Amino acid sequence: GGSLAERDPVLAHAIDLELHRQQNFIELIASENIVSRAVLEAQGSVLTNKYAEGYPGRRYYGGCEEVDKAEAAAIERACQLFGATYANVQPHSGAQANQAVFFALLSPGDTFLGLNLAAGGHLTHGAPANQSGKWFKPVPYSVKPDTHQIDYDEVEALALEHKPKLIIAGGSAYPRQIDFAKFRAVADKIGAYFMVDMAHFAGLVAGGAHPNPIEHAHVVTTTTHKTLRGPRGGMVLSRDADLGKKINSAVFPGLQGGPLMHVIAAKAVAFGEALQPEFKTYARQVVENAKALAERLKGHGFDLVSGGTDTHLMLVDLRPKKLTGNIAEKALDRAQITCNKNGIPYDPEKPMVTSGIRLGTPAGTTRGFGVAEFQYVGDLIAEVLDGLAANGVEGNGAVEKAVADKVTKLCAEFPIYG
Ligand code: PLP
Repeated sequence: GGSLAERDPVLAHAIDLELHRQQNFIELIASENIVSRAVLEAQGSVLTNKYAEGYPGRRYYGGCEEVDKAEAAAIERACQLFGATYANVQPHSGAQANQAVFFALLSPGDTFLGLNLAAGGHLTHGAPANQSGKWFKPVPYSVKPDTHQIDYDEVEALALEHKPKLIIAGGSAYPRQIDFAKFRAVADKIGAYFMVDMAHFAGLVAGGAHPNPIEHAHVVTTTTHKTLRGPRGGMVLSRDADLGKKINSAVFPGLQGGPLMHVIAAKAVAFGEALQPEFKTYARQVVENAKALAERLKGHGFDLVSGGTDTHLMLVDLRPKKLTGNIAEKALDRAQITCNKNGIPYDPEKPMVTSGIRLGTPAGTTRGFGVAEFQYVGDLIAEVLDGLAANGVEGNGAVEKAVADKVTKLCAEFPIYG
């Protein structure tokens, strides 16, 4: 027998249960989404068998005619979607897209500026444990303690003091729009490169619901699997052909061998979907839903970092409820609501505890949730977390069970992969 279920029941069972989880839980992890069947089909295709080192038309292997079509389509659609003139769709992940830019533009020991991980930045923007922090000299900037928004004066002061070669904007837990023009002006003052990592909000840019960083940055990196709703992977964009050449060499042969042609095909499919008018509606709805959830949570007495959101995500400060992120994450999971604990700016708690949770609307919006559903989700979150405050971690089982039943019902009204 050739099917997975016959060949390998252990894996088939795990995949079945994961499908069941995705169907029956409300997914609020801000970096996740639900891809179309077309994207799944491309990624699960025979293109996984193909070696294609090099770039379309310039390969080190024979038999690349068909996979060339896939990569050329992905590049062309990416450029159209984001107004770029250069795209590299080969990075296996967002981290590797960033690594490629470092490899192309910096030498070991060079200084760069990035948003502090504790203020919402990403590991690859200079965290001490990451290669970016070990092999280069990161100078972290932060957010203002009162507004929780980027301190642009600090960015400028640090840039003038440290003369970084590269300035990075973007992050994993920053709920507000970033002033790209301000960053570029600072970079120009000192002759630095300006890179935007739009991994989180790329889908909003594609759908016209967020300013486009390519208008200000020398280079833009992204993942393809978050708001952009494609397969897991990375991409680099630019409007500068010379930079593009350097980045191509950095990705291959600099960092990677054979590109994942099945993933690149799935990227092309996802970009094609994002070029459709429906994706504009989707992106707008993601933002509207996030605002609705944010307002509802505030109504239930939660504090939000920066007071709200302009994007698809928000950070809930749990301190007014005397709860921590790790406890809240686990309780919500028992009620079939998935999210992640997340540090808030100047968090007094350790990274494995945290004072916050990060919530996002991309996946729920894909399954059809609108404002009314996300207001209801806000009510369910409050029910679980207020229950924790009232009954304690051990005594909240009845509340969690009741919410889980409501979640099952809501999810059945908005089926996925049915
Ligand atoms: N950049 C940002 C801003 C991210 O949020 C992430 C993902 O968490 C990455 C890069 C890394 O992407 P990946 O997990 O695909 O390596």
